[in-house]
Amino acid sequence: MDLRERTLELAQHYRQNQTPLTAERLIGGIGAALKYTRLPDGQDGAFDFGSHTILIAEGQAPKRQRFTLAHEVMHYLIHQDDDLLSELHETFEGSKLESELEVLCNLGAAEMLLPGEGVDAAIAKRGQSPKLISELAEQHQVSEEVAVIALAERGPSPSIVLMAGGKPMRVFFSAKSQRIFDRIRRNVAIPKDHPLAVALETALPYKGKAPLPGHGTMYALEAFPKGGRVYAVFKELQN
Ligand SMILES: [Zn+2]
Repeated sequence: MDLRERTLELAQHYRQNQTPLTAERLIGGIGAALKYTRLPDGQDGAFDFGSHTILIAEGQAPKRQRFTLAHEVMHYLIHQDDDLLSELHETFEGSKLESELEVLCNLGAAEMLLPGEGVDAAIAKRGQSPKLISELAEQHQVSEEVAVIALAERGPSPSIVLMAGGKPMRVFFSAKSQRIFDRIRRNVAIPKDHPLAVALETALPYKGKAPLPGHGTMYALEAFPKGGRVYAVFKELQN
């Protein structure tokens, strides 16, 4: 079984049954309760299996909360799928298992909120451009995190997609396609001389070779600054 494909199927099926995906319908499909509350720093949500309640961090943007809600629903759907769960446990263990589970929940949440066909159509027309992140998010009324995940998953070349900003500059969110092994974590600092930092500073787009911040391997980078953020696609270099 392909874990990603199975996860996407679960998400598509859930979307078809629960559409339109309001918060009520998102939790309604699994009969869970919903609670907005304070969560530890850096945590957006949690699924309390004991009380069958989804906890969402209060004070975040509504679109971000909706993505978190879909992510927590995916935790439950995966938890209920014996085949998927046993495959996951056979393939990974320890912290690898945990991080893979988070990746799958993000992937499913993105597919729920932003159907893959829409992303494929945009990529076919415009290429796997970082400009698509804010455009897809706006068109489909989803958070930019959702668009980042979809663009990494559905792009034709193996890639890492991210958005970054702030002072000092750091990674806000990233996603990668399955075939890429380098990982970049949230809040990783971007060095001042990195093309991402230069794009933010100058408000000019960048296209050329660059390493992932904190890594040695070179990628083909396309970076697009907008509204105090930089959106970026790092594609694997073709030999
Ligand atoms: Zn999670």
